[in-house]
Amino acid sequence: MNTPSTLENFWMPFTPNRTFKAKPKLLASAKDMHYTDVDGRQILDATSGLWCVNAGHGRAKITEAIQKQAAVMDFAPTFNMAHPLAFQFAEKLAGMLPGDLKKVFYTNSGSESADTALKIALAYQRTRGHASKTRLIGRERAYHGVGFGGISVGGIVRNRMYFGSLLTGVDHLPHTHGVTGNLFARGIPEHGADLADNLERLVALHDASTIAAVIVEPVAGSTGVLVPPKGYLQRLRALCDKHDILLIFDEVITGFGRLGAAFGADYFGVTPDILTMAKGITNAAVPMGAVAVSNRIYDTFMQTADAPIELFHGYTYSGHPLACAAGIATLDVYAGENLFARANDMAPYWQEAVHSLRDAPHIIDIRNLGLIGGIELESRPGAPTARALEVFDRCFDKGLLIRVTGDIIALSPPLILEKTHIDQMVETIRAALKETA
Ligand code: PLP
Repeated sequence: MNTPSTLENFWMPFTPNRTFKAKPKLLASAKDMHYTDVDGRQILDATSGLWCVNAGHGRAKITEAIQKQAAVMDFAPTFNMAHPLAFQFAEKLAGMLPGDLKKVFYTNSGSESADTALKIALAYQRTRGHASKTRLIGRERAYHGVGFGGISVGGIVRNRMYFGSLLTGVDHLPHTHGVTGNLFARGIPEHGADLADNLERLVALHDASTIAAVIVEPVAGSTGVLVPPKGYLQRLRALCDKHDILLIFDEVITGFGRLGAAFGADYFGVTPDILTMAKGITNAAVPMGAVAVSNRIYDTFMQTADAPIELFHGYTYSGHPLACAAGIATLDVYAGENLFARANDMAPYWQEAVHSLRDAPHIIDIRNLGLIGGIELESRPGAPTARALEVFDRCFDKGLLIRVTGDIIALSPPLILEKTHIDQMVETIRAALKETA
């Protein structure tokens, strides 16, 4: 197996480098539900890589599409020219996006999608003559990637505290978690829709004439699976309409079938004005992100922009041919195998399985939606995150890849999984929990 001669030169992202390099985990190949590590061990993937390989690994149709495109044309700019695949993929995406979200701007990642969405919101307000609407509202415990816009509206202290003053003119709604009565909620929790009313409080404080947009994840994934209470997103939508504020859904995790519908917007029946995507858009085979905006927003730019270029924003790799080829093939795989419906069909079994861990050691809460599971552990006194990291290590040693965030296990398996995979995931986690002090 091709093992590196040194681990010294790669500064790994969001990783305790010193710990990792003392005991590396190196993955060599992947197929369907499994990775194989450099020692030839099979590792069941309970996290779709990083919430992104929704159709499972190594899908031949996607690989072939990338190979074919690479041989035909490696790259073409999309500044002042373009290539057919970029339009074909946008048309295909528009066909599955909810409401009138029919215009697609390409990025290369979820972080770029979040920053692009915020910039479009600000530019839109100015373009339509509401230049005082510059404030952005995020949420505590939100994750919108690592760009300066994303960390400014995000709500994770360590992602923010090292990086200076961030964007000014940002405020945050409270997160929706920890509401009394929601412990061990199955699916959407009952209590806390009124937390959306905090937007009224922020409007009273800042005035709606200063607020451009509110950005939320339909389900906050990265901070440990925080499912919004019944009616919360509907209320947020109504308040945004009332105060002429744009609503942005960050669907980098909830998009492409994760909840058993194409998007979280479909699942919850709430359509935002702007919707961000990444990860599952290409089944993660080529980096790509995208931002969908409503026809109304796009038309405003087209009709009233004060310069020939309507939006001064874009990336060298916006609409990269390999990513577009991968994206088209990915959507074909999702549709051809009915994977979103499959996720929905599997969700009740998934729910029962993750909640069966309730009696395992250290558990203080379990939550789920679609094919997402959050299993919250009691933190070790004086050593937050240590227990979850130990469970992560033990699971890996037992042939299971999970993801942990803080002391929460966050699960998001590929949508192709079978019930036997779910059983194996739950039993491996149970065994790891039993062995962990
Ligand atoms: N937004 C959300 C909701 C995410 O979950 C993530 C990544 O997990 C991002 C943005 C950032 O995506 P990326 O890591 O591709 O920049």
